[in-house]
Amino acid sequence: MKRKTDLTSVGHVTEETEFFTPMPAGYEPGKTKYVVVFGTVMSGLGKGIFSSSLAKVLQDKGLTVAPIKLEGYFNRDSGTLNPFRHGEVYVLDDGMECDMDLGTYERMLDQNLSHLNFTTSGQIFSSVLDKEREGKYLGRDVQMIPHVTGEVKLRLRELAVATQANVVFVEIGGTVGDVENAYYIEAVREMSFEEGPSNFAFVALTYIVVPQVLGEQKSKPAQLNLKLLNAAGIHPHIIACRASAPVSKKVREKIALFANVPMDHVFSMHDCDSVYVIPEMLRGAGIDAVVMNQLNLTERTDVASEEAARATWSAYITRFREAKHPITVGIIGKYTSVRDSYASIIQALEHAGASLDAKVRLDWIDSSDLTDENVVERLEHLHGVIVPGGFGLRGVDGKIACVKHVRENRVPYLGLCYGMQIAVIEYARNVCGLTDATSTEIEPDTPYPVIDLLPEQKKIEGLGGNMRLGGFDVQLSPDTMIAEVCGGADRIRLRFRHRYEVNPDYIETFESKGLVFSGRSPDYPIMQVMELPKKAHPFFMATQAHPEFTSRPLHPQPMFVGLVRAALQFSGVSIDDRGEQDPIATEPTCSAGPAPASM
Ligand code: GLN
Repeated sequence: MKRKTDLTSVGHVTEETEFFTPMPAGYEPGKTKYVVVFGTVMSGLGKGIFSSSLAKVLQDKGLTVAPIKLEGYFNRDSGTLNPFRHGEVYVLDDGMECDMDLGTYERMLDQNLSHLNFTTSGQIFSSVLDKEREGKYLGRDVQMIPHVTGEVKLRLRELAVATQANVVFVEIGGTVGDVENAYYIEAVREMSFEEGPSNFAFVALTYIVVPQVLGEQKSKPAQLNLKLLNAAGIHPHIIACRASAPVSKKVREKIALFANVPMDHVFSMHDCDSVYVIPEMLRGAGIDAVVMNQLNLTERTDVASEEAARATWSAYITRFREAKHPITVGIIGKYTSVRDSYASIIQALEHAGASLDAKVRLDWIDSSDLTDENVVERLEHLHGVIVPGGFGLRGVDGKIACVKHVRENRVPYLGLCYGMQIAVIEYARNVCGLTDATSTEIEPDTPYPVIDLLPEQKKIEGLGGNMRLGGFDVQLSPDTMIAEVCGGADRIRLRFRHRYEVNPDYIETFESKGLVFSGRSPDYPIMQVMELPKKAHPFFMATQAHPEFTSRPLHPQPMFVGLVRAALQFSGVSIDDRGEQDPIATEPTCSAGPAPASM
């Protein structure tokens, strides 16, 4: 997506000096604190989870925080990335297609983010090249240092100005030592110097290996990789050691010794049952105190706010851990071999489960293996089914067989984006009698194009950033299931990422056959939520949106709550058997929250 700012900057850009430090208007050096999280040894350590947990701990203390993820790749956004390789493409309210870590930040911080919270090398370099054409570099040869690093520093400071955050959390993608991320590390090194002491805290996340033959924790890869960070001019203030089991004192001592970091700044960050446990784990280890001290923020702690936030959060964790009623929800998709492709759905089910005392077990079913013949046997143990978003042909027949099964057998169903399109196709074929009806994405010459390109998509060429993206309002019809699960709301906001939609030419046919389009765009004839009436099915709902992107631990998304409630009933649990609701009972959210900061 196009940045809305023209990056107006002032000061420190002259022909005379070697420094190139563009400052956004209104920036006051030293006012904002920065925490930078680096990954060492390998990727996939959960840097985003760590960084967002640390940000939450500071947020709980009454500080305002703003995260930013710096990606090394040249794609301008994550929209063109294959979820098999990179995990889910997460969509922000302003339409930014970004890394799944932004979802972790939004959920952990209960905060809506924008394009300002996400940068890639593609964005940084295209901006530098544009500025070069505009003559903004005053005749200088444009270099990695200071111009490209200057652009990175500008992004961080722009975020500080736009959000007025007390602390900006910078997560540098990839691993220290990667060529593609080296300039980000250089940029924060320069910037920590410019901003002065006590304004930066550097945190290195490292990994403790346990070779199978030895069965013991070894710190050498961590030691060597931390040296790479030193070689880049960064001396970490804190080292967090990822491992499956708690990291032994001996190993932490070795790391402290080799990295010149005091022992009480080296922490174990081992695996746990929910990401939401990590803020408390960090607090328990004392990482928050070290960061607050390093940033000279200790005086700023609002103890009452911290206690209240901790109580609310730990009530959520208790509900999640102690949920009594097991249910199994099947996720019928194409990327089922890579769980990261469905990260937000997993989270949304966890939130909804915790709010209803349900322990949601997930069963991943590859739709390519499903047929009309085996669908009963493969799905009969499920209490609820989700067909998630997807693209292209593969596995479509299996998804249609699945939807037919759940519709006819009254199994609770939630269709997400492609899952709604599949439900429409199934209804067209099996209820409306439109043989071979399908989407033009699947078969351009279909006799019944019940799902077709959005009018604005027909003119577009190329693949990047051109879907219908971001948050849009959805007008709900009264007395429908969606209105009911949303507490009687008549308008909600959901996030979208699609090119195709229900073909308006077929709406009347569908409605005459009992399908209800219960959520529509207020401005265009775009069907955004569909359902079957209660008398036909206890819970059959699908949406063109991605409601999983707006579910938060303390505000579970109502469609997921509806699915889990129906699944509990389907499993034989009467909703009244679930005992007392927790006093902090999580309140479903019908909106994507307040508008994010923008420039
Ligand atoms: N492929 C469908 C479309 O482009 C659905 C997209 C999705 O599920 N995100 O409209």
